[in-house]
Amino acid sequence: MNNVISYLSGFILIIIFSFPIYAEDKPTHNPSNVASSKIKNVILLIGDGMGPAQIGLLEAYARQATKPVIENRVTAFTRMLNEGATLGLSMTNAANVLSTDSAASATQLATGKRAHPATIGVDDKGNSSITMLEIAKNMGKSTGLVSDVRITHATPASFAAHQPSRTRENEIAVDMLSAGADVMLSGGLRHWIPEGVNDDSSAIFRQLTDLTSGLIKITSKRKDQRNLLFEAKQQGYQLAFSKQQMENIDKKNQKILGIFSDSRLPNGIVANNIKNKTSIPTLKEMSVKALNVLQENDNGFFLMIEAGLIDWAAHDNDTGTMLHEMLKMNEVLNYVLDWVADRDDTLIVVTADHETGGFGFSYSANDIPAPLPLPGNAFKDADFQADYNYGTTEILDKLYNQKLSYDDMLSEVYDSLDADKQTPLALMNIINQNSEFDITEQQAARILAEEENNYYVAEHKELSMKRVPKFDVNDAFFVYQGDNRRNLLAIEVAEQQSVVWSNGTHTASPVLVFIKGEKKLDQQFSRFMGHPELGQKIIKILQSN
Ligand code: MG
Ligand code: ZN
Repeated sequence: MNNVISYLSGFILIIIFSFPIYAEDKPTHNPSNVASSKIKNVILLIGDGMGPAQIGLLEAYARQATKPVIENRVTAFTRMLNEGATLGLSMTNAANVLSTDSAASATQLATGKRAHPATIGVDDKGNSSITMLEIAKNMGKSTGLVSDVRITHATPASFAAHQPSRTRENEIAVDMLSAGADVMLSGGLRHWIPEGVNDDSSAIFRQLTDLTSGLIKITSKRKDQRNLLFEAKQQGYQLAFSKQQMENIDKKNQKILGIFSDSRLPNGIVANNIKNKTSIPTLKEMSVKALNVLQENDNGFFLMIEAGLIDWAAHDNDTGTMLHEMLKMNEVLNYVLDWVADRDDTLIVVTADHETGGFGFSYSANDIPAPLPLPGNAFKDADFQADYNYGTTEILDKLYNQKLSYDDMLSEVYDSLDADKQTPLALMNIINQNSEFDITEQQAARILAEEENNYYVAEHKELSMKRVPKFDVNDAFFVYQGDNRRNLLAIEVAEQQSVVWSNGTHTASPVLVFIKGEKKLDQQFSRFMGHPELGQKIIKILQSN
């Protein structure tokens, strides 16, 4: 019966598509229009975990903070729309399920095909799927990947590797080297250097310490003796381990592999504090370098830039750090918009792989404000009385003023105390010194409370702890159990921040898609898409010139 229906519906579709009026009716959706396009470059910016509410946080900060660090209170997102960008929406779910992870989502964008969670550059049957980066390269374009996490992490990996699991970062590094993107700038040295470096009396440890001028922690996650840095050099890559080295590489005909950390690059708060005092380039500085090099190719280029730490802050439910990550994204997007300002050959796509954390400002029953006299007629007889606490705008300033990420407060400062100094009082002091949302000793004790793991799975990479931080509700949705004290801190400051977070993972909220290229092409993105369809549209434009 089902077969008959699908046979018939196929037949009906053929009739519809062969009816000439349809084609004339929908000229802007006809892919053959693409042939007349001038677009030869594609810049794809992915804010990992950057749902509409994450953009809303940046927007609220720009519009309502006392003195935001944003010129004229105009974010790059607002500017992009003011300058004529088109807006679309996209569903991010992986194959046959409701939500997604970054690997499936980036794979769906990169290949235009459905993919399963945690898979890298393979379709839903498990076959390698050609990515837009590989398509661009085959067309003689230059290609680049920039990220502030690790170059082998799920998002960049999905554009230049084909693996059954995102956890196979050692194999991903090998794949990425053979994919041969011209510019790769990020973190993650630990997957590129031989296992032997873990013996710090070895010759290879000393050799790599010299090569990286002692700037990067030399430690390896590899299970073999391959030195992919050496292999990259043999393939013609120039290596960079500092901002200076990166900037000294001549832009003409160069392949650059720049790795600036053993794992991820500094979070937004740290990056802001060490600006101009560090050898680590910012996400913007890496993007500037990538564009300088890639633009030398007359055939055009494909560049993916990831602001990957938005997602990490959101997993921690760390609103202050997430604001700083959004400011990083803002800085990069402003630069990219400046870069394309006098060009008509470049398509910019700004989107996310999914929303993270179910974040939002909210209103509560806590601390309802006092009555407020208002001059209008409606309030002649009585002052305005808010029914709930809708959140005061100074919260935005306090969020910006956070001095350390929750990750640093808990996993760096607190955990490095001697065991006998690890008390609720000590934790309270650390938090209150680094955040303007003070907690009490009793609240600190709740953050440190533990319980038996209700979701224990032996050998699981996240779920194998016997005892875990104690949640009162929804603990199944806080799967990164080793990090969950951060999420408990978020719960303790929720009322003060007027912020709620619904989980420690991702939500299936549709994400925004900002498009700026050529008006008649941009319009085809002004729809409610899914990520495979969005990927297909980008690939089609990339293939047109
Ligand atoms: Mg990512
Ligand atoms: Zn994530």
